[in-house]
Amino acid sequence: MSESGVIRAAGEWVVAGPAAVEARRQPGMRQRALFLDRDGVINVDHGYVHTAEMTEWVPGIFELCKVALDVGLALVVVTNQAGIGRGYYDDGQFRDYARWVHAQFMQRGLPILATYYCPEHPEAVIPAYRNDSGYRKPQPGMLLDAARDWNLDLGASLLVGDQPSDIEAARRAHVGRAFLMGEDRWEDVAAWMRTMSSRGRDHAPL
Ligand SMILES: [Mg+2]
Repeated sequence: MSESGVIRAAGEWVVAGPAAVEARRQPGMRQRALFLDRDGVINVDHGYVHTAEMTEWVPGIFELCKVALDVGLALVVVTNQAGIGRGYYDDGQFRDYARWVHAQFMQRGLPILATYYCPEHPEAVIPAYRNDSGYRKPQPGMLLDAARDWNLDLGASLLVGDQPSDIEAARRAHVGRAFLMGEDRWEDVAAWMRTMSSRGRDHAPL
């Protein structure tokens, strides 16, 4: 674990699929990303989901990610995980589950570049995680770290979340556009990605 309590993309647990390999081969070229919150965007938020058995995919998420990859966006997950700090599951269990999620996406031809998570919370019961972290959304730390790790052009990237804190984190990191599930439609998100792609020919496709 890093000093910040956030596991960064270089960790062994990150599934280094074809997208990640290509990304590292082109260190000088900026990429664009579709940032995805996890609970409520990828999986239905049943409350501290951390097992395959608890997982119910949000309808349309795989189709949306397919569009993203088709237009050259990298998939990056950014997720608050106060459940770790609260002691509902531990860091190892979270990582095992994150690997499983990556594998489920990969089976569908959808490589996730990296998952960033913040286990810290101001009221965590585990002292090591009791912190008002600059990584916990609405703070932008995870997005900024991802941009640094993968040379992402945040202004040409987008985020999909289901909480105001997701949207606020995107705003603070100067992500180009943020969509709120429940207010925005999947179709609008896909349309925005396609429009950005047709304009952004100076960016490297993954
Ligand atoms: Mg959420």
